[in-house]
Amino acid sequence: MSERRPVIAANWKMNKSIEEAEEFCNALLPRICDVGAQVVICPPFLALNTVVEATKGGEVEVAAQNMHFEPDGAFTGEVSAAMLLDAGALAVVLGHSERRQLFGETDEALSRKVPVALENGLLPIFCVGESEEERERDDTDRVLRRQVDAGLSRVPEARLGEVVIAYEPIWAIGTGKTATPEEAEDACGFIRSLVSARSEAAGQAIRILYGGSVKPANAADLLGREEIDGALVGGASLDPGDFAAIVMAA
Ligand code: PEP
Repeated sequence: MSERRPVIAANWKMNKSIEEAEEFCNALLPRICDVGAQVVICPPFLALNTVVEATKGGEVEVAAQNMHFEPDGAFTGEVSAAMLLDAGALAVVLGHSERRQLFGETDEALSRKVPVALENGLLPIFCVGESEEERERDDTDRVLRRQVDAGLSRVPEARLGEVVIAYEPIWAIGTGKTATPEEAEDACGFIRSLVSARSEAAGQAIRILYGGSVKPANAADLLGREEIDGALVGGASLDPGDFAAIVMAA
């Protein structure tokens, strides 16, 4: 791996009660002493503060799974960047494929969310990735270019390198089908070239994660690749032993 500090993020999606979240943290923390990676847990909104409290003083950071771009107002069911900071979150996942596919998240909304997260001091973990059908018709690069261009379009050049991008091919999410390390590295390298086209320095600095059925058995192989700066982990992040093993592989 390069000099970029790896990020290993646990995306719990809509899983775990407050009590289960606390139990997870108590089981995880003793297993991940002295880690080099930035470890991030993304619980459901209601467990954010529980995870913040349970990991206080340790090396784990907490992220939300979504955010609205407006600071406040009549947006029923939404939360703002300031509200996430208030709950103790330091990062936010934006544009996960489940939000794009199931909840109508658009490139236009993401072009607002990514800079708003940065302006508020939240680390944006911005997700992109192609569907199986898009990969089969050789459209992967076109889709990634569209998503990356949109999500970063309002990010000033000086701050581009601060964004974390997660390459998550939709066909590999929750399916047990992992992209091969070569496929994952190719796509991450392509995404880096898109950022480098705007700023060479940002292209070198930006951290690009892979996500899609990462587990203890395949983590070291994926994380050992030069272009892959960490992992966004769904299913395997629900078990503290499995997640700790992935963190320790980074
Ligand atoms: C995800 O949801 O971001 C993800 C990568 O899920 P899984 O690890 O279960 O494929």
